[in-house]
Amino acid sequence: MTATPDVEAPDPRRQLPAVGVICADPAAQPLTARFGSAAVVAALRTVLGEARAQLRVDPRAVPTIADLLASGGRILEDGARETLFPVINATGVVIHTNLGRAPLAPEALAAMQAVASYSNLEMNLETGRRASRNDHVDALIAEISGAEAGLAVNNCAGAVLLALAAVAEGAPVIVSRGELVEIGGGFRVPDVVAQSGSRLVEVGATNRTHLRDYEQAVRDHPEARVILRTHPSNFRMTGFTSAPALDALAHFAHAHSLLLVEDLGGGALVDLGPYGIADEPMVQASLRAGVDLVLFSGDKLLGGPQAGIAAGRRDLVDRLGRHPLARALRLDKLSVAALAATLRLYRPPANPTQRIPVLRMLTETLSAIAARADALLALVADVPALDVGLQDTQGYAGGGAMPMLELPGRALALRSHRFSPDDLARRLRTGATQVLGRIERDVVLLELRTVSDAEIAVLAAAIAEAA
Ligand SMILES: *Cc1c(COP(=O)(O)O)cnc(C)c1O
Repeated sequence: MTATPDVEAPDPRRQLPAVGVICADPAAQPLTARFGSAAVVAALRTVLGEARAQLRVDPRAVPTIADLLASGGRILEDGARETLFPVINATGVVIHTNLGRAPLAPEALAAMQAVASYSNLEMNLETGRRASRNDHVDALIAEISGAEAGLAVNNCAGAVLLALAAVAEGAPVIVSRGELVEIGGGFRVPDVVAQSGSRLVEVGATNRTHLRDYEQAVRDHPEARVILRTHPSNFRMTGFTSAPALDALAHFAHAHSLLLVEDLGGGALVDLGPYGIADEPMVQASLRAGVDLVLFSGDKLLGGPQAGIAAGRRDLVDRLGRHPLARALRLDKLSVAALAATLRLYRPPANPTQRIPVLRMLTETLSAIAARADALLALVADVPALDVGLQDTQGYAGGGAMPMLELPGRALALRSHRFSPDDLARRLRTGATQVLGRIERDVVLLELRTVSDAEIAVLAAAIAEAA
């Protein structure tokens, strides 16, 4: 049967039921029960708008109430879906900022879960009086770093801002031109100094700064209070470069009644030298060199939750704690719990390189990674329309730590008969299990350093699904 076009026919858009009519239909009942009537009405308005537009193109496309409800249901389901979920990190970058940096140790997870309800976060249970949330981490920071005192705030950027605001108090801050870096995510040393309320005094040249440059700055700015040293993180200068040794700079600072504050970023608390990873400065070494206040992240090499840690002289740490910004930058209870639990894993006889995931991944031997690669290869060798093999690769620490250090790795190399490398990588990212790999020379590489033994079976299933 064909419809005869009829100029007198009513506007087909009028044939759409009203929102109230659809909602009153018994078939709408499950949606209203699940999402509430306000949300259902809003979704149906969207659906009716789309249906009207469609009718302009095709006047015969009149949807039924069941069609409209099904479309509304899809919108509501999409809206109810989480936007943040776990992924498998097969990039080989251990501290991947876009993937949430450090995965937490089971001890840290358990501690977070335990205090997610009520806890003694700010209460001394002996006296029943108010206490400080910082009591749970400050002494641990001091104990493990060897500093007189410690303090934790929201992140390292916040710790730097707080330290400069509390210690320089508006007086000039002296920084080498070679350290006026941008770390990423909008953290630029000159901007942070300005935001702390201090004036930046630049010394030296981009590639070379000498003690006499600092001397000149002190003569020109006798009111200066702080020398800030910054770890250049993802940025490296090589060739004709020089900067004073840290102990010489500390000595100079103290001889001129200045304080030396160091933004260390990475926050290595264990010596990874025995594992062949020696180019990241340690917190303890900075303190031994005479730095008055060392600042570092909780979720980089430390391997804990997002946090910014200050370790150093007690009087300075106390000043940070009393500054009004400290309240604005304080840690939440879950982070306090996770940080305390992570720091306890540094206490002997615990071996942090075994217990803290970031350190375990960084120090894992190639043969252990290769064994995981072999296990994965065996599980996916027979997936149709897919060429699989193994490839020797290199991974990175990430998070601004040791940017030049290539960690030897082994990756599963995938080439699909049906999909381009970009498409295959996208299918892996968007499947039921989301997998992040990387593409190198038209091959999708899944790095095994950052994949755990427990993820291998799930990863194999995800590969089969994507292929
Ligand atoms: C990463 C980094 C920061 C920022 O740390 P967040 O914890 O992300 O705020 C600051 N300074 C240096 C040197 C860094 O490497």
